[in-house]
Amino acid sequence: MSPVRNTSRWECLSISEPAVAQSALAACAQTAAWQAALAAEPPVANADEALQRLIEGNQRYVANKAIRPNQTESRRVEVAKGQYPFASILGCADSRVPSEIIFDRGLGDLFIIRTAGQVLDDAVMGSIEFGAKVLGIPLILVLGHERCGAVDATIGALQKHAEVEGSIGALVEGIKPAVEKAKEQPGDLLDNAVRANVELGVVNLKKSPVLAKLLRENKLKIVGGHYDLDTGAVDFMVF
Ligand SMILES: [Zn+2]
Repeated sequence: MSPVRNTSRWECLSISEPAVAQSALAACAQTAAWQAALAAEPPVANADEALQRLIEGNQRYVANKAIRPNQTESRRVEVAKGQYPFASILGCADSRVPSEIIFDRGLGDLFIIRTAGQVLDDAVMGSIEFGAKVLGIPLILVLGHERCGAVDATIGALQKHAEVEGSIGALVEGIKPAVEKAKEQPGDLLDNAVRANVELGVVNLKKSPVLAKLLRENKLKIVGGHYDLDTGAVDFMVF
């Protein structure tokens, strides 16, 4: 089994202020329970268990109770022999949305592909298919986020009919269908486009014959997610 970082335990034992001791003890008990659970963590049996690990990791992160599992030297040695990640994440390249941090995971846990606006091209699709088919990853998460700059830039480029430089045009083309869909909806255009971009990402992944076969065989689930930059919370969406 993989040892987990025990710094939190040390911090727990160091608390000496009586006024904060009671609430701190309760928090420490929760942290200890999480550490014990992660120390005995078996491989996931299915997509639902994988999703639960993402949910719980994000809850720790949001509560400022991250325990940073699987980031030890022994974990590095263990996964050097082979990788068995439990989830693939197609996320945005935005520097504020690093998957291992916001889901409180470590080495060998997550198979991550990030492009601006989580745009899906052939290389990205091939990577995700490899994760599902070859590595046997049971869960794929398409993760968008609040105030996505790539989506915002696409809205701006389309409104101004502006030329974009270099290969940035490929990003605009990839995000454009989500903006077009969001234009038909009431409310905030950027927020709606971000959410539409997640939904279309899930829809487009499901068009892959490789992934569709695994979905039919109940060996795979594909879900969406929306990350709140302010709170750190991820809302999961099933389409
Ligand atoms: Zn973004």
